Amino acid sequence: MSYDCVIVGGGPAAVSAALTLRARNKTVAFITGSVEDISLSRAHEITNYPGMPAIGGRAMVEAMQAQAVEAGAELLRGHVNSILSLGESFGVSFGSEFAEGTAVILCTGIAPGKKLPGEAELLGRGVSYCVTCDGMLYRGRRVCVLGFTADANQEAELLRSMGCDVQFFTDKKAHYALEGESKVTGLTVNGESVPCEGVFILRSAAAPDSLLEGLKMDGPHIAVDRDMAASVPGVFAAGDCVGAPYQVAKAVGDGNVAGISASRYIEKKKGGK
Ligand SMILES: Cc1cc2nc3c(=O)[nH]c(=O)nc-3n(C[C@H](O)[C@H](O)[C@H](O)COP(=O)(O)OP(=O)(O)OC[C@H]3O[C@@H](n4cnc5c(N)ncnc54)[C@H](O)[C@@H]3O)c2cc1C
Repeated sequence: MSYDCVIVGGGPAAVSAALTLRARNKTVAFITGSVEDISLSRAHEITNYPGMPAIGGRAMVEAMQAQAVEAGAELLRGHVNSILSLGESFGVSFGSEFAEGTAVILCTGIAPGKKLPGEAELLGRGVSYCVTCDGMLYRGRRVCVLGFTADANQEAELLRSMGCDVQFFTDKKAHYALEGESKVTGLTVNGESVPCEGVFILRSAAAPDSLLEGLKMDGPHIAVDRDMAASVPGVFAAGDCVGAPYQVAKAVGDGNVAGISASRYIEKKKGGK
């Protein structure tokens, strides 16, 4: 699957960028989890968006995504695990699939809070964010799944079907810590140790700099210039992930600017300039 632009996210910023790119006749895909994973879908009612005096958050997200699809953008369901520079384009991995884009726009919303104790140190040594990518490595072994996404239950079932002994946790407020020195040996849950060889952490959003090497951050936000260009050429960002105010109107405006900038970048690349 190859596109002029691949957008990570499915909220207002992503949809606005997708519409802008489609209006400039660019091929575009946006990759996002289920509607429940989008922060706006949890809003009971939005009353501050012009032209829509009162609309439920979920209805707004569904209407926005449908509009982008109607305009010709492709909606790909999944969680992006990594973005790799391929020289003239970018490879975006989501689940077991892969999409290529000349440009990438990150619209990932607010990054999650702190990583769990031991998470960064044991990443790739028992800690994984992707069942499809790593599940088979744990066949016949015990794994813990921290399921904080709407489809986490299905992911846990997938691990079971691969032959893993799965312990499933969904309480976001519990205290979790990874155990192990050179590899995962267990998970502490509220002070109680659960021995295991792997821990799958399923969140609806990952810190953006863990997706793409060399992406500069400004505190918890992606650093961008006035054109919404990030530190890696060809990569743009928009919405809550670039900073406050965390509001739909601002996300839509950012997405529009990022879409215009990405279009210009793509045209330059195609023109060989
Ligand atoms: C309860 C609540 C009430 C709110 N009320 C209002 C309000 O009344 N008015 C207002 O203006 N704003 C409100 N907001 C804020 C508003 O929802 C956000 O400002 C807006 O949705 C930001 O849009 P965004 O596109 O930047 O990010 P989001 O809408 O957060 O979308 C980010 C998307 O990126 C996806 N994503 C992240 N990482 C990945 C990845 N690795 N792979 C695939 N997908 C990924 C997420 O799942 C999500 O789909 C509210 C927010 C909440 C939580």
